[in-house]
Amino acid sequence: MPHILIVEDEAAIADTLIFALQSEGFTTTWLSLAEQALAEQQRSPADLLILDVGLPDISGFEACKRLRRFSEVPVIFLTARSEEIDRVVGLEIGADDYVVKPFSPREVAARVKAILKRVLPREPLAATAAGPFQLDRERVQIHYHGQLLNLTRHEFRLLQTLLAQPQRVFSREQLLDGLGVALEAGYERNIDSHIKSLRAKLRLVAAAAEPIQTHRGLGYSYSPSHS
Ligand code: CA
Repeated sequence: MPHILIVEDEAAIADTLIFALQSEGFTTTWLSLAEQALAEQQRSPADLLILDVGLPDISGFEACKRLRRFSEVPVIFLTARSEEIDRVVGLEIGADDYVVKPFSPREVAARVKAILKRVLPREPLAATAAGPFQLDRERVQIHYHGQLLNLTRHEFRLLQTLLAQPQRVFSREQLLDGLGVALEAGYERNIDSHIKSLRAKLRLVAAAAEPIQTHRGLGYSYSPSHS
């Protein structure tokens, strides 16, 4: 039973969400402060967060930034104004989706379902296949269409991260986290150069395929249907 954490300071809005989500079989927790939600997510992690942007203590954006230091849980933002939407879409905050107030609670529940279908269960890739990719974690090797890829350590971990969750859009920041590289100004551009060399190596095997998709302003994803 997936558990949803709702962080919203308006009781009426929270009530309609709780009702819609529980009707779909989800369990819910409702909190009205971001700080409480961050503590709760560390204590007892939910499967997905619905996070209001305008909260009384710290903004939903700031909360999401702090959340991403310790969790990759999917986040749906509730936004009230168009300038907030621009920030959700334009910045690499690490949200999975957003809805604009006033919204239909059933629509939110449908989006929650769609996101969880994509990310749960997160099966560990020990020595498993993802489309034409064959990943061997023990040997630190990836085969693509039967051919061994000659990858650097960073390229291996990048590809491993993308393959683990097909279709999921990873921000550059999230991909850097996966590399275990300290986050410093300008470092995010390094992801682009690693992706570029990774793509060149994949093209040597399958020239017409484009398994790594670029999402402008958001990041990268692995697309099995383009592999
Ligand atoms: Ca609010």
